[in-house]
Amino acid sequence: MENYIDELNEAQRAPVLQKDGAMMVIAGAGSGKTRVLTYRIAYLMSKGVDAFNILSLTFTNKAAREMKARIAQIVGNSEAKNLWMGTFHSVFAKILRFEADKLGYPSNFTIYDTQDSQRLVSAIIKEMQLDKDVYKYKQVYSRISSYKNSLITVKAYFNNPELQEADAMAKRPRLGEIYKAYVDRCFKAGAMDFDDLLLRTNELLTRFPEVLAKYQNRFRYILVDEYQDTNHSQYLIVKALSDKFQNICVVGDDAQSIYAFRGANINNILNFQRDYDDVQVYRLEQNYRSTKNIVEAANSVIDKNKTKLEKVVWTANEEGARIKINRLVTDAEEGRFVARSIFDNKMENQLNNGDFAILYRTNAQSRAIEDALRKRDIPYRIYGGLSFYQRKEIKDILAYLRLVVNPNDEEALKRIINFPARGIGATTMDKLALAANHYQKSIFEIIENITRIDLKINAGTRTKLTNFANMIKHFEVLTKTKNAFEITEQVARQTGLLLEMKKDGTPEGIARVENIEELLNGIKDFVEGQKEIADATGSLTEFLEDVALATDMDKAQEDEDRVALMTIHLAKGLEFPYVYIVGMEEDLFPSAMSMNTRAELEEERRLFYVALTRAEKQAFLTYTHSRYRWGKLIDAEPSRFIEEIDDKFKEYLFAQKDNYTYKSPIGRDIFGEVDKSKLRQTKPQKGTPPPSHRPTDSQLKKLRRLRPVSNTETQQSSSATKIPALEKGQRVSHARFGNGTIVGVEGIGQDKKAEIDFDSGGIKKLLLKFAKLDML
Ligand code: ATP
Ligand code: MG
Repeated sequence: MENYIDELNEAQRAPVLQKDGAMMVIAGAGSGKTRVLTYRIAYLMSKGVDAFNILSLTFTNKAAREMKARIAQIVGNSEAKNLWMGTFHSVFAKILRFEADKLGYPSNFTIYDTQDSQRLVSAIIKEMQLDKDVYKYKQVYSRISSYKNSLITVKAYFNNPELQEADAMAKRPRLGEIYKAYVDRCFKAGAMDFDDLLLRTNELLTRFPEVLAKYQNRFRYILVDEYQDTNHSQYLIVKALSDKFQNICVVGDDAQSIYAFRGANINNILNFQRDYDDVQVYRLEQNYRSTKNIVEAANSVIDKNKTKLEKVVWTANEEGARIKINRLVTDAEEGRFVARSIFDNKMENQLNNGDFAILYRTNAQSRAIEDALRKRDIPYRIYGGLSFYQRKEIKDILAYLRLVVNPNDEEALKRIINFPARGIGATTMDKLALAANHYQKSIFEIIENITRIDLKINAGTRTKLTNFANMIKHFEVLTKTKNAFEITEQVARQTGLLLEMKKDGTPEGIARVENIEELLNGIKDFVEGQKEIADATGSLTEFLEDVALATDMDKAQEDEDRVALMTIHLAKGLEFPYVYIVGMEEDLFPSAMSMNTRAELEEERRLFYVALTRAEKQAFLTYTHSRYRWGKLIDAEPSRFIEEIDDKFKEYLFAQKDNYTYKSPIGRDIFGEVDKSKLRQTKPQKGTPPPSHRPTDSQLKKLRRLRPVSNTETQQSSSATKIPALEKGQRVSHARFGNGTIVGVEGIGQDKKAEIDFDSGGIKKLLLKFAKLDML
C-alpha cells in the first residue's frame, strides 16, 4: 500500500485520520474536499472497516467512479469493488429495487426522467381540460417536484390549507388534483420519477423500522460530497441512516451552493452541528487547483455576498495571467472568438482539447459556440442539453426496452405504439386510455384483453394491437435468457426501427442509424463491465437503471480528446486548465429571472464563483453587444460580475474605447478570414509529424457522426458562396450537411454547381446560387 497519507497537507489529514464520529469539512473551492473524502475511505478500509459498510454519496456517478478508481489504487481493486458509491438517486434506486414490494411497486419499476414526467403532467392537464396557458406543464411539474422534495405528499397537501391557498392565489386552484392524478398514474404505471427515488426511500425508512435498522447497520460509515446542495429529502435520508452510529463525514462549501431552485437548503450545513453529538468542524484553506490570480479574483467576487460563512482561501501556486475579458458584437462572433482562441492556445502551448471548457448559464447558448467549433474542426462534447440519451432515436429504442421490462410503463408505450407506424392512431389511443381509466388497468393490460372488451375498435386495428402486444411479450420472454445487448439488437431489428431510419437516406437519417450503433456499442461495454460486479448479470433491467440514472456528465464517451461544453451548474466539482465563461451579460448572467431578491442575486454570484474556480491556469470572460433571445435581437450590457472582479485581476482584450479586432498569431482576424501567407509559415516542416493534439481522422469521423441531429440547424448564418473561388479538393462547410470536400464543379454563372462529398455521408450536387457554403 502506498503512503497516500503523505499526499495530504496537515489540515486535510485531520479529518482523514479521525476514524469515528460526526464531522464536517467546510472549505473553499479547490482545497481538497473531494480528496479528503477519497482518502478517508481508503484510510477506513486500512483500519479494517469492511467496504460493504461504507456508503459514499457524490454529485455525479462520474465523480464516484473516479474516487473508486483512486481508492482501488490504494487498497486494491477487489476490495474497492464492494463500496457503495454513487449519487443519491442511483444508490437509493438500488435499495428501492430490493424493497419495492413493501411499497407496492414491482421490483422492475421504471424510472421516469424529467421529460417523461413533464409529458405525463401535460397529458393530465389536457385530460382535465384546463387552460394550458395558466397551467403551464413545466411550472406545474416543478411545483409537484418541490412538494415531493419537501416531503409534502398528496395527503399532506390536502391537509394543508395554506399550500392550497397559495396555489389558488397563483391562479392554479386545481394543482392538488393534478398532483394526485400524477402520483396515481405513476404508481399504476409501475414508475417512479426522480423525486420518488428520494421520497419513497424516506417512506421506506420511516414506515419500516426493521428496514431502517438493516441499512443503519449496513452503512456504518457515511460520507457526503457537495453537502451544501442536498435538499430536504436527501438530508432526512442521511440523517436517518447515520442516526445509530453517527459516523458521518460531510464536506461542502456554502459559497458553492447553487441548487436552491431545486430545493437545496443551506441550513443543512448550518444545522449539522445541532443534529449530531460532538461534531468536529474542519476547515481547509489552501487551494491546489488555480493560480493566485484566479483564486484572488474569485475571492474578490464572493466577498460581495452578505450571507456567507467567513472563510480563507489562498494558494501557493504561481501568480498566473490575469482574467481576460473580451467584447464581441454578436453571439456568432463570440463563438468564433472562443473557437479561435482555443485553436491558438492549443497551437502555442501544445495543449489537448480536453484542457478546455466552455461554460454558459443556459443550454441554449451552446448553439453558436458549437457552430464555430465545428467550422474549425475542433472536437467538442456537450454535457447536458441534447445529450446522447435524449436524442429521439435513442429515446425511441429505450422506450421499447422499458416496455419489455415493464409493460405497464405508460409513457414508454405511448411513445412507440405507433412508431414505426403500424396503423394505431390517436383515436384508438384515446379509447384505450379511457378504458384503462375505467377499469383501473394499464393500457397494455387493456390491449391484452382487447377481444374481451367492447371498445368499438374495428377488427383490423384489434389485430394490429394484438400483434404489438405479442411482439413485446416475445421480447419479454427473451429477457429470461439473453443479456441487454442481445435483446436490444433484436428489438432494433424486429420492431422495424432500424429499417425505418435506414430508409431515410438523409445525413440526419444516417446519423441516427449510427447513433443506434453507438448505443449498441455502449450496451456491449456495459454488459462486459457488469461481469466485474459481484451480483450483476448484464440484464436489460440493470442497463435501463444505469441509463435512467446517468447524469449527463456520466454518459459521454470519455475516451476521446474533446473540448467540454456545459452549463455552470454541471461544472461543479470539476477542473480544467483553461475555462471560457461566455454570455457574461446582464439578464443572462445574472439571469433576468434571478434578480428579484438579494438571495437570488447572491445565488447567481455563487454560480459565478463556481465558474471561475473551475479554472486552473487561465479564465476568459466574453460578452456581446447584442444577442438573439426568444427570437429577438436584444441589446446587451456587460454583466455586473465583470465589474465586481477587482481590477488587479482582469484585463480587457480590446481597447475599451475603440472597436477592437483581435489578431491571432496565425493571422486570422476576428471573423476567421485567413491570411494565407502567415498560415503557411506555421505549417509543419516536411517530415515533422503533425502536432499530437490534432484530432485524428477517425476521431473527427466519430465526432461528426455523434453530432446531435436537429431539425433547427438550417438557420445558420453563413455568407453566400463566393462562386469563382470554388475548386476541386476545397474543403467546405454547409449549415445542414456539415463539412465536406468538393469533388467536382460544373456549369457556369448562375447555373454553376458543385458536387460535394460530405463527411457525414453522401455526395450532393448543390446549386451555388442558393447553397450557402463556407470555405474551410
Ligand atoms: P471543489 O470545491 O471545486 O469541489 P475540492 O475542495 O473538492 O474542490 P479537490 O477537487 O479535492 O478540491 O482538489 C482540487 C485539486 O487539488 C485536485 O486536482 C486535487 O488533486 C488537488 N489537491 C488537493 N489536495 C492536494 C494536496 N495536498 N497536494 C496536491 N494536490 C492536491
Ligand atoms: Mg469537490
